[in-house]
Amino acid sequence: MKLNTQNIIIDSINYLKIFVKESDKFNEFLHIGQATNDPLKVSYIKKEKIKSLKDFAKIEMGKYPSREFRNKYFVSTTIEKLFKELFTIVTNRESNMLYEVINRIDIHLKNNIKNELFIEPDVSGFYSEELKKYNYYKNGSCMSGKPRRFFKLYDLINEDENLSVKIVGLKSDNLVIARALLFSKTIYKHKICEDSGKIINTTFSKSYYLDRIYVADFLQNSSYEELQTKLFLQIKRAYKLNNLNCYNKSQIESHLIKKHDVEKLNIYIKKYKPSFFLDVCPTDVEDLEFYPYADTFKYVADKGLTCMDDQTGHILTLDCTDGEATEAEPKNECCDCGEINDDHVFYSELEDDYICGDCSTYIEERNEYCLTDNALYNNHTGDYHWASDIQ
Ligand SMILES: [Zn+2]
Repeated sequence: MKLNTQNIIIDSINYLKIFVKESDKFNEFLHIGQATNDPLKVSYIKKEKIKSLKDFAKIEMGKYPSREFRNKYFVSTTIEKLFKELFTIVTNRESNMLYEVINRIDIHLKNNIKNELFIEPDVSGFYSEELKKYNYYKNGSCMSGKPRRFFKLYDLINEDENLSVKIVGLKSDNLVIARALLFSKTIYKHKICEDSGKIINTTFSKSYYLDRIYVADFLQNSSYEELQTKLFLQIKRAYKLNNLNCYNKSQIESHLIKKHDVEKLNIYIKKYKPSFFLDVCPTDVEDLEFYPYADTFKYVADKGLTCMDDQTGHILTLDCTDGEATEAEPKNECCDCGEINDDHVFYSELEDDYICGDCSTYIEERNEYCLTDNALYNNHTGDYHWASDIQ
């Protein structure tokens, strides 16, 4: 038989009452039960609070508090804090007993958290917390609850029929306990007729990347790696994938090694970084007014979104949490051959432009370099002159 959560809290209090003395305040705490906003906490309301709501705000609780009432007027706290208010602990034996009971409730509450997979296509709605079907819990993401307009990039990705991004996660009822971005991309392969050069047949496959997994704050310490691993495995199962590129690979691996689940480990990809670009049109990205902060695909390059920071041609970096994006420093480019290389390309005052070592000639009388095309050799002296200096 599965124990009811509310009952285990009340039963535990009644059990402790046999052995430990109640505090003077014991009877002030009413309707003690599991907190609605945090399944690992308890909530209660005090007698005087019910009275003052009734007397001053004309709000009546009724015989039993509704969920809404509990949300609004109840105080939520840890089991430990509440039990210390309820009981007067004198001896070591009493203290041990109290903690034994607290631990038992804690384990029970944790075991009762469900891990239901959800897949949410409205990424902007989720991030901005406008979707009311979820109970968002603090999870260490700096983007949670930011305005919807910051997340237009994800809408843009989803407008492309070959790309998609979704929020995937685990929830307990409607409480989000773990979540991540899942990117996907369709890859087409054409079979071409050797004689005519025409495409005979096209097949396609999909490639996925699971971005950083965030875990609700209240489970960070107890179940961080476990929840990451659960989400990872559930996504693989849901999409029937042999391989899944994943940001949290090392944590998931170490968790599976701890659990000796080597079989699941074998089917891992070896690469840390995803093997695909998100080829959204960079000018469309540039046209956006606001940008999200991104963990992985944070570089906007001429090919699209990438996680590689060693690419030249970055236009933007999505490293701001205030809706901005960092524009790439313009690279110095030789005005003659177009070379881009900071070690080799320098500014010439004579040319008022950037030139490279290969395209330049030193003009001794000017103590400066100019483009070789603009340097004239003096057969008599063996020196070079800048063309504009010669009549
Ligand atoms: Zn050059």
